[in-house]
Amino acid sequence: MEKDKMIGELIRLVGRENVLSSAMHFKLYEYDASMIRTNPDCIVLPTSTEQVAAVVKFAHDNKIPVVARGTGTNLSGGSVTVQGGIAVVLTQMNRIIEMDIENLRVVVQPGVITLDLKNELAKHGYLYQPDPASEKVTTIGGNFGENAGGPHCLKYGVTSNHVLGAEVVLYDGQVVEVGGKALDNPGYDLPGILGASEGTLGIVTKATLRIMPKAEAVKTMLCIFNSIEDGGNTVTAIIGEGIIPATLEMMDSFVIKAVEEAYHIGFPIDAAAILIIELDGLKDGMDRLTERILAICRQNNVREIRVAKDQAERDKIWVGRKGAFGAVGRLRPNYLVNDGTVPRTRLPETLVKVVEIGKKYRILIANVFHAGDGNLHPLILFDERDKDELERVHAAAAEIMKVCVDMGGTISGEHGIGVEKLHGMFLIFSSRDIDAMWKVKAAFDPANLFNPGKVLPETEKAA
Ligand SMILES: Cc1cc2nc3c(=O)[nH]c(=O)nc-3n(C[C@H](O)[C@H](O)[C@H](O)COP(=O)(O)OP(=O)(O)OC[C@H]3O[C@@H](n4cnc5c(N)ncnc54)[C@H](O)[C@@H]3O)c2cc1C
Repeated sequence: MEKDKMIGELIRLVGRENVLSSAMHFKLYEYDASMIRTNPDCIVLPTSTEQVAAVVKFAHDNKIPVVARGTGTNLSGGSVTVQGGIAVVLTQMNRIIEMDIENLRVVVQPGVITLDLKNELAKHGYLYQPDPASEKVTTIGGNFGENAGGPHCLKYGVTSNHVLGAEVVLYDGQVVEVGGKALDNPGYDLPGILGASEGTLGIVTKATLRIMPKAEAVKTMLCIFNSIEDGGNTVTAIIGEGIIPATLEMMDSFVIKAVEEAYHIGFPIDAAAILIIELDGLKDGMDRLTERILAICRQNNVREIRVAKDQAERDKIWVGRKGAFGAVGRLRPNYLVNDGTVPRTRLPETLVKVVEIGKKYRILIANVFHAGDGNLHPLILFDERDKDELERVHAAAAEIMKVCVDMGGTISGEHGIGVEKLHGMFLIFSSRDIDAMWKVKAAFDPANLFNPGKVLPETEKAA
């Protein structure tokens, strides 16, 4: 369809004020937090499920790709329009529809900002657990699309463990409800299939989430190590003792320095690694558990342990951890984040290999990671204008992904496949496995118009 006609039709469907199509707007929506940039043909910001349904039906009838978008912070190319089409930005649908506190459920629109929801719940003494470091700016819809994780997902599970139901717009504009408020819903686990589907199966217009009461007590420890291996071994030993803290987050010396320069937290800039261990739960027994953890740290050569005395000190530590990408991002024009996952016992040797890869390709790699989950985040720093360096960065990223798989891990812990890791899917799945996923895709999206070019690589059969 001719572009002007398409824009005219979309204005008719959702109103002029909800359609963007100027050159400046195309620039603003051409990217996410990956390295891929492509212009949509039009941007719509619907304000209701009915508007989303009308846009999707129009796109389906006219064979136009549709890409759902939250705030565009995903790191794998999930919300760029690689085949053009309509970017459906859900940020105006940002209402908390229902707070069913007694039943530990909330119902929200997809554009609600994750931290806004948490702040609202905190007023009642409750919590929505998933906490991507980007929670200040990301949407619940985007978190669901990527199955986002975060520091506290070690103990509480990733986003899909907290989404019980959803209202979804299907490929032809029909609106259906999947799942519900119960913990185990009858029938197929469609919320499970939709979570992490990166907008390739439908558009979520409402989500039913599980919430929890805030813990009675929290203890946050900053453990400082002179060697990254000791930090990694501490993580393995804590979990090996049967202790699952709320968080086990690690940073290497490069990240510690970057964070310190950016935020002046008081992190030790001469340390090789720091481990942030947070416990939450009942007050009773927490001191005993803390002692056991401190003993494990000492057995693994911890240099110093600082226990946060109050909420202000705790917040300071988390500002450093959650701001780590931003701090490192100040050092070079670009960074690429890998997020391969390995069995946590193999973290120390994987880190050694990551360092070797950095040396081999002459690039800077900073490491900050969800150590408890074995989820690495090597941040590769570079300047994309230097084509030679860019090539080395891509080669290094591919090699790190392969190392994670060889260690018995996988290519992504939480950042999704998008476009950037499409080729990596063959490292963990056979063509037959991927064809099975294409069958799911075909059932939800027969014309392949929902976010085409993402998640599933072409196989001989699928092509
Ligand atoms: C500094 C920084 C730190 C980060 N830290 C973390 C972290 O700790 N943990 C983590 O998991 N991620 C992290 N991320 C990645 C990112 O923030 C998450 O992937 C987040 O969930 C994306 O949400 P968004 O609103 O930006 O969605 P977008 O990036 O706009 O979209 C993400 C995907 O979801 C799809 N989508 C969006 N809305 C809908 C909808 N309503 N229905 C269906 N599909 C939809 C999109 O098509 C796309 O495929 C970080 C990113 C940055 C830049």
